[in-house]
Amino acid sequence: MDHPALCTAPHPALRAVARPVEAFAEEVRRLAHDLIETMYAHDGIGLAAPQIGRDVQVFVANPSQRRGSELVVVNPVLRGSRGRASVTEGCLSLPSIWARVRRASAVRLEGWDLAGKPLVVEAEGLLAIVLQHECDHLQGRLFIDRLPWLQRRRVEARLRDTAACA
Ligand SMILES: [Zn+2]
Repeated sequence: MDHPALCTAPHPALRAVARPVEAFAEEVRRLAHDLIETMYAHDGIGLAAPQIGRDVQVFVANPSQRRGSELVVVNPVLRGSRGRASVTEGCLSLPSIWARVRRASAVRLEGWDLAGKPLVVEAEGLLAIVLQHECDHLQGRLFIDRLPWLQRRRVEARLRDTAACA
């Protein structure tokens, strides 16, 4: 395997609030590379560092799944959100669970790129959903947290059997 293992719920790494990156060193570039490779290995369109057991604020996203067009964001903050969307989401850390989640339909995301330069992304459509989903991961939040209470309880009951960094 040429990429790190994926953590699946209820692994505790998925529930920690990630630490901000303080130095834009080689280590962060390696982490981004690991995230990209792991994302593609599992056919994902986004992946956050806690999903490979790394406690730092970095995620990658690529709704097009076209190699080379990955978005890498360090220390992201959602600054603005508009509209409403309800899209069926899944998560590599919650295999076999899919559910409709209510989110904003458009967002403005601010953060830093791998070189330490400020990055601003104005997104709508699928990218807006992915950005919100990945920012949630860095706060220790999963998409199932946004489901109505009863639906969430059912999902959590199913998850209780499976805890692993596979
Ligand atoms: Zn996810």
